[in-house]
Amino acid sequence: MANTVDVLTPEQSVAMRGRTKTLGYAAHSATSPLQPFSLERRDPGLHDVQIEIAYCGVCHSDLHTVRNEWENFMPTVFPAVPGHEIVGRVSKLGKEVRKFKEGDLAAVGCMVDSCRKCESCKAGLENYCEPGATYTYNSPDPHLGGVTYGGYSQRIVVDENYVLKVPTNLELAAVAPLLCAGITTYSPLRHWRVGKGQKVGVVGLGGLGHMGVKLAHAFGAEVTLFTTSPNKKDDARRLGAHHVIISKDQAEMEKHLRSFDFILDTVSAQHDINAYLMLLKRDGAMVLVGAPPTPLPVASFALIMARRSLAGSGIGGIPETQEMLDFCGEHRVTADIELIPIQKINEAYERLLRSDVKYRFVIDMASLK
Ligand SMILES: [Zn+2]
Ligand SMILES: [Zn+2]
Repeated sequence: MANTVDVLTPEQSVAMRGRTKTLGYAAHSATSPLQPFSLERRDPGLHDVQIEIAYCGVCHSDLHTVRNEWENFMPTVFPAVPGHEIVGRVSKLGKEVRKFKEGDLAAVGCMVDSCRKCESCKAGLENYCEPGATYTYNSPDPHLGGVTYGGYSQRIVVDENYVLKVPTNLELAAVAPLLCAGITTYSPLRHWRVGKGQKVGVVGLGGLGHMGVKLAHAFGAEVTLFTTSPNKKDDARRLGAHHVIISKDQAEMEKHLRSFDFILDTVSAQHDINAYLMLLKRDGAMVLVGAPPTPLPVASFALIMARRSLAGSGIGGIPETQEMLDFCGEHRVTADIELIPIQKINEAYERLLRSDVKYRFVIDMASLK
């Protein structure tokens, strides 16, 4: 007898899918605040893991999405439930799941699936999936229709191949931001082989920058933080920077011409990248992980004169995200966080816009009842 599952159209299989209600927080338009929202999660399929979410980090992308600020390349479908820095405990498993058992700690980052067939997916670089990964929120949901709902909720169901294991020796709430801010900075540091004996710069000390400093330090590099705010000096040193340079101080910048092996630029506002390119040694690389809304002018000579490279990098693949979490467990690296109840999320967004957070808000999901 033919397997009946094979003859269902995608619409029929969506309609037949078992689902359960769960509570979350959603924005209903680009101008409305987040508020309680009842959403549905699919019942775990054979390879699915159901996670009770303990904590979810607050990423700037969440804010861009709920305010529909990326309308031109990723328009927001409302209601929108953001959140892609998710940690919690496994509460239910599909029959074929081998990686997890009930009660295990588990984490979900920016992706919940991908095509699994393209060259990038085959290489474990699902973050660069060619048709595009299924993101944790605001991506078409192949199981339930509509769009995916993120981690500002009590529970999530994800295929085990996109669920990460969490080291048990770290403070769980402070692990959450590793799933986006952590991997976004870890991946380029690894790809460009940053390590001992190298002079590494991190531009900007926000959610991404503070992870960049901690991770570059853990890799054994000599770390310099570039910032426009002199009042960030002490904090940068506490986080692991060996030196701090105030980027507006031209004389200070000039002292470091042609001296850096690698610079990680985390700034998401318009700024002069040529000033930093000039600080790279011959064959040095500068990598952008922030995304300013308008194009950044590049002076070709800054690249040509010392065979320098300018590149970009976006989150990381699933295998590398697991490697990052294991590395953070081993080196006891977590984010510096401010824990908030979900009822404070709208206020947290306003503070995020003023960079008034050290260095990542994390939502305590126990507050969502
Ligand atoms: Zn993020
Ligand atoms: Zn793919």
